[in-house]
Amino acid sequence: MQIRILGCSGGIGPGLRTTSLLVDGHLLIDAGTGVGDLDARALAAIRTVMLTHSHLDHVCGLAFMADNLFGEIDHPLQVHAIPETLSVLREHIFNWKVWPDFTALPSPEQPLLVFNPLAAGQSLTIDDLTLTPFRVCHTVPAIGYAVATDAGLFAFSGDTCAGDTLWNALNALPRLDHLMIEVAFPNRDGELAELARHFTPAVLGAELARLRHRPMLHLTHAKPGAEARIADECAAALSGWRYRHLKTGDSITL
Ligand SMILES: [Zn+2]
Ligand SMILES: [Zn+2]
Repeated sequence: MQIRILGCSGGIGPGLRTTSLLVDGHLLIDAGTGVGDLDARALAAIRTVMLTHSHLDHVCGLAFMADNLFGEIDHPLQVHAIPETLSVLREHIFNWKVWPDFTALPSPEQPLLVFNPLAAGQSLTIDDLTLTPFRVCHTVPAIGYAVATDAGLFAFSGDTCAGDTLWNALNALPRLDHLMIEVAFPNRDGELAELARHFTPAVLGAELARLRHRPMLHLTHAKPGAEARIADECAAALSGWRYRHLKTGDSITL
């Protein structure tokens, strides 16, 4: 399995793209601004989109993808998300006001987008990948994904904060080789991080003590401009862990 990081920043800026991971060229986890860098052929190769939650930095690319793919593909794009996320997409984005309803275009019988509700804990097999969504704690209903292959197990937390939900889910996995996890705010913005339900390096470092696995950590979602401070603080908070700060263009192979 090869995971290409199309974007993993907590915002926009030169060279920065928001969360979107392309798995083996055909499966997209989150549809942030990173999908905007794919050419027509790469976009048309995507058959499945798995979303973590309804926040704009994780779904905005879906609207533009649908528009670009209209009339270009002969199969619907299968979008998987928890029911709460799908309701927000229906009500607030694909509502004919913000964007056309591509779940009814070109026709309700053969639409471009098909929305599939996911249940946490219920695994889904797509080609040789098994994806298991798990609940995490955020300001809106949100999930992360565990992706299993013969070569090992990768998990992506999505946007999350401290709490039992995340660690119980990760500790229940049989193994964990790579963990992509967010650390959005520097320590000085601890209060804001708590309100926005994101991690700071100090909180992540303390919370990781609850994880029974020792995966390689891939850190994401830094707020633009805070990257260097977060990196310094991670050096102190994550000593003993193997980790790296992910950026657009990186990949994870297992
Ligand atoms: Zn979010
Ligand atoms: Zn986010």
